[in-house]
Amino acid sequence: MRTAFDGFNPRPTNSSGDTMPTLADLQTERETLRAAQAKQDFEAAHAATCRQTDLVAAGAAVRAVLLDAIDGAAQRLLDAIAGEHDETRVHYLMSETVHEMLASVGEAAVAAAGALPLVGERVKRGVKPRDLLTVSQWADRHRELKSGTNAPGRWHTTLTPYLAEIMDALSEHSPVRQVTFMKSSGVGGTEAGYNWIGYVMYHLQKDLLVVVPTLELRDRSFNPRLNKMIDESADLAGLVTTSMRNRSNRGDLLEYGARARIIKAGANSPDSLRSDHLPYVMCDEVDAFPWDVGGEGDPMTLIENRQRTYSRAKTYLVSTPTIAGLSRIDMQYNRSDRRRYHVPCPHCGEFQPLEFGGRDKSYGLKFRTAPKTDVDTGDGAIDQVTAAWYLCRACAAEIDEGNKTDMLARGRWLAERPHIRHHRGYHLNALYAPVGLGLNWRAVAQKWLNSQGDTAELKGFINTYLGQVWKEQGESIEGLSLISRLEDYAADLAGLAVLLVTAGADVQKDRIEVSIVGWGVGEEAWLADHIILDGDTAQPDVWDDLHDALTAAAVHIAAIDAGFNTSMVYAFCESRRWAIAVKGVEGLHRPLIEDDRKRKQRLRTRRKKGQPIEPLGVDQGKALIYSRAKLTTPGPGYIHFRRDPAFDDEYFAQLAAEKLVTKFRGTRPFQQWVQTRARNEALDCLVYALAARRLIKPGGGGISLAARTITQSSKNAGISLAGWKRGPTIGPG
Ligand SMILES: [Zn+2]
Repeated sequence: MRTAFDGFNPRPTNSSGDTMPTLADLQTERETLRAAQAKQDFEAAHAATCRQTDLVAAGAAVRAVLLDAIDGAAQRLLDAIAGEHDETRVHYLMSETVHEMLASVGEAAVAAAGALPLVGERVKRGVKPRDLLTVSQWADRHRELKSGTNAPGRWHTTLTPYLAEIMDALSEHSPVRQVTFMKSSGVGGTEAGYNWIGYVMYHLQKDLLVVVPTLELRDRSFNPRLNKMIDESADLAGLVTTSMRNRSNRGDLLEYGARARIIKAGANSPDSLRSDHLPYVMCDEVDAFPWDVGGEGDPMTLIENRQRTYSRAKTYLVSTPTIAGLSRIDMQYNRSDRRRYHVPCPHCGEFQPLEFGGRDKSYGLKFRTAPKTDVDTGDGAIDQVTAAWYLCRACAAEIDEGNKTDMLARGRWLAERPHIRHHRGYHLNALYAPVGLGLNWRAVAQKWLNSQGDTAELKGFINTYLGQVWKEQGESIEGLSLISRLEDYAADLAGLAVLLVTAGADVQKDRIEVSIVGWGVGEEAWLADHIILDGDTAQPDVWDDLHDALTAAAVHIAAIDAGFNTSMVYAFCESRRWAIAVKGVEGLHRPLIEDDRKRKQRLRTRRKKGQPIEPLGVDQGKALIYSRAKLTTPGPGYIHFRRDPAFDDEYFAQLAAEKLVTKFRGTRPFQQWVQTRARNEALDCLVYALAARRLIKPGGGGISLAARTITQSSKNAGISLAGWKRGPTIGPG
């Protein structure tokens, strides 16, 4: 189909001529159109034309309106923020007030510009600001939780009131640049992050980088949750087309709205962290981020580099903490303004943070227990918590957990270092978990009880429920202070609540040192003797002495260090079922003895190759010994020392011969035990003796003794009390 205006190029007529317009026709047509357009333009210009006097009058009227508003602005702002102290709150109150002022200026301008309404309309349109929206407001209006949550339906910030300030610090208008949230599980830290993602997508439509510890975690956990949130909120689903959604299933990128992106990275992949600059970053579980990624250094540096060009960049770091000195979230929290959520006591009204407290604290979580009635449970028995409450630090009144909802609603964040601006740090423990959403106080107390006596479980409790870093409690000890608590008891440990006896032996070139230790319930330890057997360990004599010493002490199990003169150690252990060759392996994360599954697996493969050797996580063993040496009351874990020349100044100096220190390899911090004096055999011997104690597990995969000495019927792991008899029933095999 051709029209008459299909190009203005004159075209030659063909021979028939009559169907083609002539050049003159085309020119006429064009002029007609031009005339019509000119008429239209004139009419529009005419309509927009006004009298100069009208314009001046309207302009003056609008100017008066503006001057009025400016005159009253300062007072209106001051009135709006009267009595407020929180910076974010003040910021929002001022923003809201300015919004209201601009809206009324617009209305007043329209009313004043009567002579020329157009001027009023233009001013009104010009002063209309963009809607103010905070992250918590967005979540309350748009976030839907459909399934897999305790509280399905529309998100209500009022259920987790402490999250309001954390989320709002991430809002576009907040002056805060970094939000660090160190938290326990069950308080909603990650959900706050998802709300921020929703807010950025819906309200800002800007680029956001989300970093999780690994690519695997991103694909397995983060992506499904993000997709679920988008599916559940119609407002977000509308921003993501089906084809974008399908592509996002690939994992690393979600495009939405008008060319905005959610970039999804793993801290273990430098490639995923590399791309263009962007304003917003969320790092989930930062304590699991590596300290060096693919030889390119700290992943946080790579991440920060991408935000550098944005003056209004924002970063949200959230994590459960790990080990002191190695915890990113703890380091960041310490750099922040360190906020804690203060809630009022329902009795005296005193605002205070909720703290776990502890046995020796007059305030904090307190609980009552009922002992387990089963008598045959040995040290596997754990008391059951029957009630828990909170003691106010101001009035010492008992606070029932039923008050928590109201206390949380009235709570407020207070900064320890208010002079730190732009970096907010928030800390929460499991005591704050809203009723019905997390563990109640009784359950937290039970978790605490359950974790006693096991370093790994206690660390888990401190990290997961208290939201605090785990300090290797045995960092160092004062050997001399231990001397002051020597006790009088017999070398054969008669009359003590000793269930079994182990030995730990350290082999040097010219001597063997061995500690004899009796063990009670909860690994309460009684040092019986520390023996030094002089002699060349390449010759059999000193080994005969060792045999005599161990049988004289009626030792059930002996752990012998095979790090030196290995073949002699093997020879000794091979002919004695109760002697185990051990070897210390470094690494703070390695448990003192392997778990049963790993151990069985190793033994299956090793048995064919001859003598098995037990690898010991000696770093954890040392930490355990040091933390227990600091206990001050006899009971589970306590270590007793016998008043005997064997336990002299030199013994205690050796026991205290190591110190846990934090070192750096490039940017990467790590902890290591370092010797502070040349000899440390006493400490090694005690660690080996403890390992020997743990290698005995009736019914488990540990070393099994003669069946008559250990009752196998107990359902609980650990040593059964019934059937235990020390004595010559166990001798060299
Ligand atoms: Zn009180």
